[in-house]
Amino acid sequence: MILLKCTTSNCQHNIKDHCNAGIIGISDKGVCDSRIKRAGGALEQTFAELEASEEFLSDAPNIVQCNAFCIYQKDNRCSASSILVADHMLRTRCMTQIKPKKKV
Ligand code: SF4
Ligand code: SF4
Repeated sequence: MILLKCTTSNCQHNIKDHCNAGIIGISDKGVCDSRIKRAGGALEQTFAELEASEEFLSDAPNIVQCNAFCIYQKDNRCSASSILVADHMLRTRCMTQIKPKKKV
């Protein structure tokens, strides 16, 4: 069970920094594979947020399947208690990722 905050400006699963996908997939590059861009872009998301009622925003538990090289990744699942997903360099990626130190 993960608390997930996502600040992307354009995803059909996102309302006011909440992700309602339930299960999301993070790729080996740390990018959210579950993102679906809205046809109307960031403007459409702004209108959806204006129409969303507050009770819709209760924090639903999320399952995060993840293939990234990260200290929280256990058996292709994220074991962190909370993660932040955000837009970064044209992608929407997990900002909580911590790469393990390589053994020497
Ligand atoms: S980009 Fe990913 S984490 Fe963010 S709302 Fe969309 S599916 Fe959820
Ligand atoms: S914190 Fe690590 S394991 Fe969890 S989703 Fe992000 S990259 Fe994957």
